[in-house]
Amino acid sequence: MIKKIIQILSLIFIICIFNKDVTGSLAGQDNNIKVAKISTIPEITNNKSILKFTKDSLLSYPYRIPPKIVTKIVPLQFDIIGLTTEISKGVYLIQLNPNYSIETLQRTMFHELVHVLQFEKGYLISKGTKVYWKGVESSWMLPWNQRPWEIHAEKITEKLFQFDQ
Ligand SMILES: [Zn+2]
Repeated sequence: MIKKIIQILSLIFIICIFNKDVTGSLAGQDNNIKVAKISTIPEITNNKSILKFTKDSLLSYPYRIPPKIVTKIVPLQFDIIGLTTEISKGVYLIQLNPNYSIETLQRTMFHELVHVLQFEKGYLISKGTKVYWKGVESSWMLPWNQRPWEIHAEKITEKLFQFDQ
């Protein structure tokens, strides 16, 4: 019982700490909210384009240690589908909102993995309240669809993500 409470508290702690620093995906016009069944992480990651992107892009740097990615299904604010946080150098937390369909979560997972690649390549640097995109200071205050790292992530997701037949 106590162990469970500690687990829940530490989870809440993580969400609070990283919320201001995260790269989120907004739901927008999504009609897939209120799903009957909650998807599991293996179900979400079992997608050819996700696996290909992970293998070919994220794990393809021979000169550095592969990133460590922790993925959790966490109740997020209703309009946020996914969040990626760089916990420490090379360690990432991807949080996915269970209130969305498997299709939406797969596409979001892909989008979040692009953020991991952005951090890994040094395109996206988050230091305290500051954020830099390709060496230029930017702002978390920008609307989601004007953030250059979101435009970049969406462009790559649009190009490479595919639902399995
Ligand atoms: Zn994003």
